[in-house]
Amino acid sequence: SRDGTELLIQQDAGQALIVDDLSNLPEDEADATLTSLVAGESANAFDLVNGPLFRARLISLTANEHALVLGAHHIVCDGFSFAILIRDLAELYRNAVTGVLAALPPADSFADYAAGLAAAQSQTDEPTEDELYWLEQFKRGLPAPLDLPTSRPRSAQRSFASARLDLSVKPELVRQIRQLAGQTRSGAFAVLLTGFATLMARLSGQQDLVIGVPSAGQTTVNSETLVGHCVNLLPLRVPVELNQSTREAINQVQQHVFDAFDHQRYTYGSLLKKLPIERDPSRPTLVSVMFNLDQALEGGDLDFGGLTADVLSNPRQAENFEMFLNISQTRETMTLECQYNTDLFDEGTVRLWLSGYRALLKQMADSPDLPLAVLDIVGQQQAQAIARLNATDTELPPYDNVGQWLTQSAQAHPDQAALLSRAPNSGQWQASSYEQLEGLSNQLARALRQRAIGRGKTVGICLPRDARMLIAQWAVIKSGAAYVPLDPGYPEQRLTMMAQDAQIELVISTLDTVASLDLGIGEVMLLENPAEDLAELPTTPLPSSSLDARPADPIYLIYTSGSTGRPKGVSVPHRAVLNFLNTMASRPGLTDKDRLLAVTTLSFDIAVLELLLPAVTGAQVILADAETARDGAALLRLLNETDATVMQATPSTWRLLIEAGLQEKRNLKALVGGEAFPPELSCPLLRLCGSVWNLYGPTETTVWSTLWRVRKPGAPIRIGRPIGNTRIHVLDERAQPCPIGVPGEIVIAGAGVALGYHNQPLLTTERFMPDTVTGEPGARMYRTGDLGRWTWTGDLEHLGRLDQQVKIRGFRIELGEIEASLQKHAAIRQAVVVTRARQADDVRLIAYLVGGPVNDTELRDHLRRTLPDYMVPQHFVS
Ligand code: AMP
Ligand code: MG
Repeated sequence: SRDGTELLIQQDAGQALIVDDLSNLPEDEADATLTSLVAGESANAFDLVNGPLFRARLISLTANEHALVLGAHHIVCDGFSFAILIRDLAELYRNAVTGVLAALPPADSFADYAAGLAAAQSQTDEPTEDELYWLEQFKRGLPAPLDLPTSRPRSAQRSFASARLDLSVKPELVRQIRQLAGQTRSGAFAVLLTGFATLMARLSGQQDLVIGVPSAGQTTVNSETLVGHCVNLLPLRVPVELNQSTREAINQVQQHVFDAFDHQRYTYGSLLKKLPIERDPSRPTLVSVMFNLDQALEGGDLDFGGLTADVLSNPRQAENFEMFLNISQTRETMTLECQYNTDLFDEGTVRLWLSGYRALLKQMADSPDLPLAVLDIVGQQQAQAIARLNATDTELPPYDNVGQWLTQSAQAHPDQAALLSRAPNSGQWQASSYEQLEGLSNQLARALRQRAIGRGKTVGICLPRDARMLIAQWAVIKSGAAYVPLDPGYPEQRLTMMAQDAQIELVISTLDTVASLDLGIGEVMLLENPAEDLAELPTTPLPSSSLDARPADPIYLIYTSGSTGRPKGVSVPHRAVLNFLNTMASRPGLTDKDRLLAVTTLSFDIAVLELLLPAVTGAQVILADAETARDGAALLRLLNETDATVMQATPSTWRLLIEAGLQEKRNLKALVGGEAFPPELSCPLLRLCGSVWNLYGPTETTVWSTLWRVRKPGAPIRIGRPIGNTRIHVLDERAQPCPIGVPGEIVIAGAGVALGYHNQPLLTTERFMPDTVTGEPGARMYRTGDLGRWTWTGDLEHLGRLDQQVKIRGFRIELGEIEASLQKHAAIRQAVVVTRARQADDVRLIAYLVGGPVNDTELRDHLRRTLPDYMVPQHFVS
């Protein structure tokens, strides 16, 4: 009854058959009408109070071709029942055709079935064996909900909107699947479920999964005529061990399936009542995905006395589960019919997953002894989509080394201002033209050559941030040697260590700077006043020589924090920098009209963009001195006074500028990078600047490897797509590509990959692995240690680190290096350093210590001897 207190049985369920005759319509129109009639049937809701709960519609396409559309409410029918109905229908039809009177046996009664079920339930408080089995499955705690990488964020309230995508499985693969079932003495169901569970595990990164499987109640009472809602849902807690081979996994799944079906009479609803599950309105409870293999209807089942019959299931427009993979089959074929929630997944996503599933099944059949973890689930189609994102081939500029490009650019813009910097003595701002810088750097390069400096050598640059730093950088590059930045602000011991490690033969410095330093290495070349000091030497470029750098020679060696306690020198070739500058010049873009405000120490590779990109494009560098670069107000003044059009900085420096009162400046391009870009920072930046870019890349792959233009204030931030000649791979622990949406390690290949860590072959082979993706001999790719994933828009998302490396105000720090340095103190036995974020922009280092007693000041002094200030913890806890 309407209020649900009484059961009303309709006497005559007889239902008029609706007939549509489309045989007079043109073929195309008939097809379209058929499609819309069928869709209309599944969209048309049933009236549960007045009925009918069953509908039938016959659509005649031609005199010999008809579609019979059957629909029923789930309360009176289930998938298994439909098979019974179709078999009966075939028999009745056959009988009618041959004139034999129909004599079907009476159907089993649903009421009897329901009563039997009720009787089987425990009449006491004692749990039944079935109940014990299912409770046992969840005794060791409930698994986390299956978290598939959705195409769109999950909303707080789940929806039921659903669509279906079908993909067919080739007869050859169907045969292989059945053979594999035979070889493993299991059923095709276990093979297909093993594949599905593996796919779900690899997509979600979870190995403790619950996959729902429908069980037909009819089989528990051995009925072949029972029609009704008899289906139960078995929440299989499928063990997925990716280290297992296909064979082992199938055996295990098969056993699990047998056990579960032995206990299939315990209803899912009863189980949910017993489990301590918190309901989450954003997800289905316990079971998010379903799997089923339909029984094959064929041969005699479909013998409609001379008709050829095909059974197709209609897609549902609402679905309880996030995904329901139903596999229908005939003797030769299988079809993957996947209902999916359209608010969570795009059709494209599901298509890629299903084709990945097919690919997985093929590999399982081809190599049943391989571990599941090494099988590819990306599939050809998805691999191609990723390959397209990595199709970044661009021609390199026609130079062997960056020096040639510098000269070419200077000759193209001789009178243009190349540099605005503070004069060493007066502190006055002064401009230098390209012609001047070119001449002075040529003179210095000649002076270096006189000392036999050329390719294969390393030269330290230990200079304050004025014109001399730029002249020295250009000159070393032109000489063919690699430069090693030695920031005078670093502790002496650290500089010495770097200089020794890099086997520096010569350091370019000033009297003031070296006076306070004792690097304990080779020669020092003083560069007080280049115009005077080098006056005798010609200003023309060095004649070409065998000492000139070639594309694979290092252009610089940059030291970065090392987890074992020693900084490591990243050796970057000219080729990588040529490529980097070339691609940056076009995107984010720089022209000879630009003025770039440079704020970064030469010791960080992002200074390469600030100093060399303007130089090769004819733009102007405004070189902020060290004090100005640190002081928000002073920096802002400089930015405004010079009307700079580009600045590159870490998020923290940008925040400093905003706090200092950055005004709207539409001609300013903001390049942001070096650490995670906080989404809220995009609001002020987009409001104030002309364009905002997020740049990502480790020193080991040459400054930046991906970029993304930030457009929507406050929206999630991406690191975007690879720059020219760069390929990004997202790989799992076994170096297998992750599907789109699945987190893995960001691995970078292509022109930017550095030569390695100077004099550290072991560390180099550990992080620079052979390029297994292209398989190109000798090509290597760099494992960044960053966690990331491809998003469905084709942009990369950065998700943090896989190790102990942290970034504080853009400074790259291995916590291990600080710990090692603490342990070198005689009184410290053990140390652990962690970061604490008070706010996004207030991250501190805290050292936990065993040993002592030592006071904080003494510890700080100890650390400051080897570590730069930014690596010294703010707090010590004993
Ligand atoms: P570095 O070698 O100093 O350039 O540091 C490289 C590391 O900084 C990367 O491996 C990332 O962990 C982090 N990083 C650099 N740029 C970004 C960015 N735009 N978003 C997130 N992390 C970044
Ligand atoms: Mg970098």
